Amino acid sequence: MVLQRVFLTNDRQIDSKKEFVLYWVQTGLRIKDNYSLKFAIETANKLNKPLLVVFVLKVFPNGNLRQYLFLKQGLLEFKENLKMLGISFVVKKVENFKEVIRLFNRACLVVTDFGYLRRQRFWRQYFSSKIETTFVEVENNSVFNVKIIFPKKAEFAFQLRKKIFERLAFLEKDFSLPEVRIKERLFFQACDEVKKIFDGLQFKEDVTPAFFIGGEAEAGRRLNLFIEKKLPYYRRYRSDPSKNFQSDLSPYLHFGFISPVTIVRKILKSHSVKDENVFSFLNELLVWRELARNFVYFEPNYDNWQNLPPWAIKTLDRHQSDRRSHDYSLEALEKAKTHDPYWNACQKEMVITGKMHNYMRMYWAKKVIEWTKDWRQAYQWLVYLNDKYELDGRDPNGYAGIAWSFGQFDHPWAERPIFGLVRYMSASGLERKFNIGAYLSKINSLEKAHKESPPERGS
Ligand SMILES: Cc1cc2nc3c(=O)[nH]c(=O)nc-3n(C[C@H](O)[C@H](O)[C@H](O)COP(=O)(O)OP(=O)(O)OC[C@H]3O[C@@H](n4cnc5c(N)ncnc54)[C@H](O)[C@@H]3O)c2cc1C
Repeated sequence: MVLQRVFLTNDRQIDSKKEFVLYWVQTGLRIKDNYSLKFAIETANKLNKPLLVVFVLKVFPNGNLRQYLFLKQGLLEFKENLKMLGISFVVKKVENFKEVIRLFNRACLVVTDFGYLRRQRFWRQYFSSKIETTFVEVENNSVFNVKIIFPKKAEFAFQLRKKIFERLAFLEKDFSLPEVRIKERLFFQACDEVKKIFDGLQFKEDVTPAFFIGGEAEAGRRLNLFIEKKLPYYRRYRSDPSKNFQSDLSPYLHFGFISPVTIVRKILKSHSVKDENVFSFLNELLVWRELARNFVYFEPNYDNWQNLPPWAIKTLDRHQSDRRSHDYSLEALEKAKTHDPYWNACQKEMVITGKMHNYMRMYWAKKVIEWTKDWRQAYQWLVYLNDKYELDGRDPNGYAGIAWSFGQFDHPWAERPIFGLVRYMSASGLERKFNIGAYLSKINSLEKAHKESPPERGS
């Protein structure tokens, strides 16, 4: 079985008289396991044309320095790697999309990375219908394309698990890029020019740079470190926030600096899927991550409460007027000024480092439901905070994770105040399971170090 990755999105003919093949890169900012790039090179070679790779830069609403600095670091590395392959790359900052259409129309064919979120899908549909050239989307950031693996909305993770593990045998065994035949420098843009474009961006929100360096090389380094030092203990320690046994790859996956295919292939080269640590990790990377892609693709309300199953809405509404022990404003939450030191610590972890520990993300969301008078308001605030501070925010995983906190993909539990039948989490649970004091000390030290030497903004 060959995994389908290439999807034709319009019915225009390839016009081989045009100037180049164009790869509009969005979430494939890497060389390794970049299936869109591979398809673009193969097509350019067939047509005997040069290849142009373009990153269209437009600041998304509420974009911030943290995200764009990480992106810039990865883009500059990608640009240098493409140069070594003889491929031209430009970052094009645009105010209106007419100029993008003009550029796309000069291409024999436009290739892009498959998009899952509303905004990504809107732009793909828009360009595909407006341009006078063939438009192709390539599945480049999931192991299995959402339309193939389970072509309707999944309600539970188990619906995907078996299908995914069965199909693992068909994963491409290796990956190599063909050499580019026509190495013509189409547009020249120096690194300094790219830096200047980014340095000129204005952000409304001031969020400090995260504790992560963007790019493909750093993603690869983290993957090696994970396989060697953390994977052997993953199942036991992955949920313990006082330790760090997660891969820390989510920001790199989100920006496309690494492919999930690379991660799976590398792990399975030296480990069996029957190893409990490997299975536990793949259950997150493949099942839960691909369930999140299914969720945003088939659920139009993926980022608001209306996606919730009827039982969850009903039970939360029934308990809407239950007395809350605390009723915090968004500002109090954002500034980590609650009565709960564990909650404040994880909020600070997110604000300072750009990545909160997975277990604390669940606790974090559950407590906002508990301390907000209106659970629908809580939903909105969680999406806002997650997308603003998490370096891996604005990702299908984030929308699915928040929805899960309100009962999505879960079953009803025993009834209790405020939550009704939705699963609840308590501070005493954290104390019972982990050395939560060690987590608090870790975050205190981070906060102190961050105050004493705040990260640089421009590098
Ligand atoms: C309220 C809430 C908000 C969340 N927000 C985000 C977010 O904005 N972005 C994000 O990428 N993840 C989010 N998650 C899911 C999860 O917490 C992170 O993916 C994980 O902590 C990332 O760290 P890691 O890469 O070190 O994970 P690892 O444990 O090393 O896992 C490897 C990879 O598997 C995937 N994965 C792990 N856990 C999950 C999960 N529960 N659901 C889907 N995929 C998963 C991720 O791609 C992750 O990078 C959220 C979860 C909750 C409960």
